[in-house]
Amino acid sequence: MQNPYEADRIHDIVREGLAQVLGSSVDEITADATLVSDLGAESLDLVEFRFEMETKLGVALPKSNVLDQLASALGGSEQLYDERGGISELAAEVLRRSAFGYSEEQVHAGMRPYEVAAAATSAHWAAFTHRIFDHLPEVCTECAADKAQIAPSGKVQCAGCGAALEAAAGDEVMAEGVRAALAALGHAQPVG
Ligand SMILES: [Zn+2]
Repeated sequence: MQNPYEADRIHDIVREGLAQVLGSSVDEITADATLVSDLGAESLDLVEFRFEMETKLGVALPKSNVLDQLASALGGSEQLYDERGGISELAAEVLRRSAFGYSEEQVHAGMRPYEVAAAATSAHWAAFTHRIFDHLPEVCTECAADKAQIAPSGKVQCAGCGAALEAAAGDEVMAEGVRAALAALGHAQPVG
């Protein structure tokens, strides 16, 4: 089923959710404001944001991060860091190819992992959240229709019978993105 959401609409919902969690106005949540440094988000706020998106959109944002998933795809973290603890060119490239869509300015080799985490903006989370909706079932399990639509609640439903549709979990979407990036970069497809 095709993603029924426009990227902009998801970005609006993400910004509203962040404003609510951070107690700020939606106007402050600009596309390039970093959640941690610019907006002062703490890890508990991000937990709450994840809950907020689950409630509003019915999606499970990832609990893990790209670097952790990359380490598990590669069977270890040796290729992820340089001798000073900064991320490698490979790790930076996989991050830029992830659904978060970091630019070369935002994420580059040599950054510390906490700096990578601090680089995330509402636009990155919106891009990732939007990508989750690219992972809807092929057809409705209730009526076999192949079209999705947005219900008044904001969640995604079958256009044929109105049954709720479940997109893939964020962690799965992220893991798949990491595997695809590694394959595109010429790394052998990891097992499992
Ligand atoms: Zn249906």
